Amino acid sequence: MYVAELQFNIIADTSYPVAEQAIRHYLETLIFNGQILGREFPTYLQQDCFISRIILPETAALASHHHSAAAQQALMTLGEAGLAFPKLTLLGEDLMSNHTDPCEAPTALILYSRFGLMNSVLYCAEHFAPVPLYRFSPTSGPDHQDLIRWQLQFQALDEIQMQEQRVLPKIAENSLQQFNSTLNRQGRQFAAKIARQQQVPVYFALYSGSSRNCDTEADKCCPGCGQAWHLAEPLHQLFDFQCQHCLLLSNIAWQCQ
Ligand SMILES: [Zn+2]
Ligand SMILES: [Zn+2]
Repeated sequence: MYVAELQFNIIADTSYPVAEQAIRHYLETLIFNGQILGREFPTYLQQDCFISRIILPETAALASHHHSAAAQQALMTLGEAGLAFPKLTLLGEDLMSNHTDPCEAPTALILYSRFGLMNSVLYCAEHFAPVPLYRFSPTSGPDHQDLIRWQLQFQALDEIQMQEQRVLPKIAENSLQQFNSTLNRQGRQFAAKIARQQQVPVYFALYSGSSRNCDTEADKCCPGCGQAWHLAEPLHQLFDFQCQHCLLLSNIAWQCQ
């Protein structure tokens, strides 16, 4: 991932609220197409321009052919708000985030999320590296807003259940690890739809945090089909279970490791 700055030159009369609103709207359209990552975009005024600090999944992420129709529209709105088209400056590689997948066309994908991972939820199954969302067709609507909103909810629940003093003792963890929770049903629906669109298998990574019985945890069966699914060797040092029939991956509950 790359740290970059977007510079919005002021080219006509504007006010701070109008400019801020136009910039915020443009950045939102980029978020919802996977072109910029994260949730915080520090933006400051510098003499005759506004500057926003952003994280890109790859250097060409803001190429106009990756823009959704909403982003193209938002670019036009910048002009109405007295701002020029943004100028991109790459500052360097982000040391705090992972690398985008090198494959041109991964032959299988994994839908995987954890709190703190702001990158795409779609990973190349071979390299376990994230693939930018703008390379895929949206599953609904004009961009990837639905999938990114799902990711935000997954991460919020994950963040809660990671805390020692949880405010939602079981609800957050159940949502994350129960096969049929609303969260996981939606996640599998996204995976299935992307698999149909891309014509490649898309595995859903089912989180496993706690277990009723650690002695039998390694022998548990696939929650989709009830078959044995324990791998001889963990995949990507993370997944102990894989069902090729149900396109599911999971791990031995963290509590039992
Ligand atoms: Zn790859
Ligand atoms: Zn199965």
